[in-house]
Amino acid sequence: MKLKIAIQKSGRLYDESVELIRSCGIQISNPNGRLKTEASNFPLELLFLRDDDIPQYVEDGVADAGIVGENVLLEKQKSVVICNRLGFGRCRLSIAVNKSAAYKSLDDLQGKKIATSYPMVLTNFLRENGIDAEIHEISGSVEIAPGIGLADAICDLVSTGSTLLSNGLREADVILRSEALLIANNQLQDFQNNLLRQLIFRIEALRKARNNKYILLNAPNEQLPRIAAMIPGMKSPTILPLAQPGWSSLHSVVDENEFWSITENLKQCGAQGILVIPIEKMIL
Ligand code: ATP
Ligand code: ZN
Repeated sequence: MKLKIAIQKSGRLYDESVELIRSCGIQISNPNGRLKTEASNFPLELLFLRDDDIPQYVEDGVADAGIVGENVLLEKQKSVVICNRLGFGRCRLSIAVNKSAAYKSLDDLQGKKIATSYPMVLTNFLRENGIDAEIHEISGSVEIAPGIGLADAICDLVSTGSTLLSNGLREADVILRSEALLIANNQLQDFQNNLLRQLIFRIEALRKARNNKYILLNAPNEQLPRIAAMIPGMKSPTILPLAQPGWSSLHSVVDENEFWSITENLKQCGAQGILVIPIEKMIL
């Protein structure tokens, strides 16, 4: 009775997929080229596959769940459940043209030839935008297609854009923003759903922790109500008296994105000695 999760065998998603499982407190040994491995402290088995095959295996139930790029899932059009967006493997699926090409808008693709490894996603995108172009499907090294006269434009994954640049191309339009997803079979049995829920619970605790910080500060007692309202934390802040009369230490949790703007206001309220500490796991 194990939960079988498919992850990429090697490539851009491998390290972070393994890291995610490990950071959930699940111990897995190094696969060393094996097809699968079992966790020692959680009923979980990892299957190592090519990323392109993961949606199919999850739909078929060969794997109960999988970690795969959204770009691959949309291309394969398999019927699975998306459980979580995982925040790594971020990239764009973009149209790129020759650096010198006079491209202004999508309309400039009318009647052109576009090389891609993502024919489904591209076909849908062109149809939605009323563009009639010829799609040339190739499985790899898409970026060399314009240079060798195979296509006028390409549709390929981009993260920094340096591969495009070194092939004399420029990013002209973004058609999809992608990140790694946790997907699952849509007919799991109860025990599998149960295990998956435990895993998702851990993943979410990690994500909340990453987005929040533990904050400690000293403040004059008369300012405590105002400060407590600014950083209410999970329920309410902890307030402890300092040895120095008239002062207290206040502990709370803040959203990482709001930290700098809140800090300004805290200082105006007389807060001093502000410490901000990372949180490892956070359960509400
Ligand atoms: P496989 O051998 O498993 O088929 P692959 O060569 O198709 O591997 P990778 O290049 O390892 O795949 O990319 C896997 C996924 O990583 C992509 O589908 C995408 O979701 C994500 N990714 C993130 N950044 C990039 C990038 N700059 N280029 C390509 N993929 C990226
Ligand atoms: Zn692939």
